[in-house]
Amino acid sequence: MDERIASRIKLVRGDITTLNVDAIVNAANTSLLGGGGVDGAIHRAAGPELLAECRTLGGCATGSAKITRGYRLPTDHVIHTVGPVYSGGGRGEADLLASCYRESLRLAAEHQCKTVAFPAISCGVYGYPLAEAARVSLEATAEFLAESELPREVTWCLFDQPAYDAYQEALAAAAD
Ligand code: ADP
Repeated sequence: MDERIASRIKLVRGDITTLNVDAIVNAANTSLLGGGGVDGAIHRAAGPELLAECRTLGGCATGSAKITRGYRLPTDHVIHTVGPVYSGGGRGEADLLASCYRESLRLAAEHQCKTVAFPAISCGVYGYPLAEAARVSLEATAEFLAESELPREVTWCLFDQPAYDAYQEALAAAAD
């Protein structure tokens, strides 16, 4: 990964609902009507207006993304993307996961977002192995950033230490 691209990628540990960025990304499900994990945390923090807007969107396909306002969150926008459920890696999971990052970044750029934060999409209930997800997501993001000035900065907000460590290792390997 080019040094100029690496300098636009940050890792933090914490709760994505607290981040003051232009857009946070939600690891949603195809209904967009809320769920557990980071999805539940985002809806709780944003308030019921978020669910009301999500109801108007007609769901979201796996690998795609849709954008809403952030309501009571410190962020302006929430980008809802649906990661693949991991079932061994032979069912196009990597392409779908890469597509989540590309489509989310495309929406962020379209909405003039300079700063965007992602959780580790698919790495919770959807069971994607952390090291593999980190590699795929960093690669897709680096490719996008090489072609686009926006977003200027992409942060992964990792909720626990294993996720943080996996992303840190993948970023170090990609920067070699
Ligand atoms: P998925 O269904 O895509 O696997 P999950 O929400 O189950 O989504 O998990 C995705 C990742 O988000 C997991 O690594 C989980 O630990 C993490 N996570 C859960 N809550 C938060 C939060 N408040 N902020 C950031 N990441 C979170």
